[in-house]
Amino acid sequence: MLKPNRNYAELKDSYLFYRISQKVKAYLADHPGERLLRLGIGDVSLPLCDAVIQALHEAVDDQAKKETFHGYLPECGAPFLREAIAAHYAKRGVSLAADEVFVSSGASDELGDLLDLFDRSNTALIMEPAYPAYVDANVMAGRTIVHLPSGEKDGFLPMPDECAKADLIYLCSPNNPTGSVFNREQLQGWVDFANENGSVILFDAAYEAFIEDDTLPHSIFEIDGAKTCAIEICSLSKTAGFTGTRLGYTVIPKALVRDGMSLNEMWVRNRTTKTNGVSYIIQKGGAAVFTPEGQAQIQENIRVYKQNAKVLMQALDECGISYCGGKNAPYIWLKCPNGKSSWEFFDELLNKVQIVGTPGAGFGECGEGYFRLSSFGNTEDTAEAAVRLKRLLKQKQ
Ligand code: PLP
Repeated sequence: MLKPNRNYAELKDSYLFYRISQKVKAYLADHPGERLLRLGIGDVSLPLCDAVIQALHEAVDDQAKKETFHGYLPECGAPFLREAIAAHYAKRGVSLAADEVFVSSGASDELGDLLDLFDRSNTALIMEPAYPAYVDANVMAGRTIVHLPSGEKDGFLPMPDECAKADLIYLCSPNNPTGSVFNREQLQGWVDFANENGSVILFDAAYEAFIEDDTLPHSIFEIDGAKTCAIEICSLSKTAGFTGTRLGYTVIPKALVRDGMSLNEMWVRNRTTKTNGVSYIIQKGGAAVFTPEGQAQIQENIRVYKQNAKVLMQALDECGISYCGGKNAPYIWLKCPNGKSSWEFFDELLNKVQIVGTPGAGFGECGEGYFRLSSFGNTEDTAEAAVRLKRLLKQKQ
């Protein structure tokens, strides 16, 4: 008899976004026509930049002519894009061969698929609060999870702990949901820990483009020793508005070897077996992100989101609410006022000022009592949300 993967029965209900949507639905049913300000989403609101759009159009035209038509491309990514990404890393002093860069359909896909490289008996350490997919992908594979909580004491940047060792280590910086960012010394601590223990770090750099402080690392490969212990997962979703277009990239250095096996070679074998790659058109659009025009244009969009974050941070400052993030990250992680739980504050914002945010408790137990606001929303709505937040929070004092 067929046996389903029983590990799925161990998954906790993915009730965070479901519960949010149910509550919003119920509110709108009772208050038809009410305008909600949505600061909960992790999706972007600005369109793709001109350089990308132009490249996409040109690539579509290429596919219309026999001389420029492309069929299958190399599974691990088109050389033009792998080279453009390697050249982008070189600007930060990180030297990569083009075949250490793998083009993907996005970070989510990779975070799940990469687990194929590791035995199911491996343990996975997850810094929390965390993007929910890290836990769920490992539960599906039946792995034991070591939860590493963080909090205000460590600025939501937990450091290695001799009592919390694991084979795989998930780090996300800039962090979703807390907006905190590891500095060089902290990342060096993690790299040294991983090398000493033979662990592999899965470094999620989906929000690296939001770093504005020059002293903070965008890539784990800026840290000495990272090439023997880390895989970096990147995405153009937030960097360049590719959430609906789908493109990302993953770096697996050739120096990353475990038990005599090269993880880079294993991933080539995996990709050439399990995918026929990303479409030519999308890879052409992605390559435009790494041109000087593309870089300038994506920065304009990021500036808009950063201005949104500033408006929200000012409102919180005026109300004396403590928070982290918002500066080098698109998320603001605030402490719920008056000791409220995450869901109590969610209900209060929805019912009293019609703002939808994300309860911190949905990102792990240590997120209870916190709340995430996103700067990816529309600018007018964000400005209005700041006014309403002040109205609500000042009332209380
Ligand atoms: N990693 C983190 C931390 C994210 O927040 C997200 C999306 O919100 C992803 C990965 C997934 O990105 P992608 O759209 O490339 O799948």
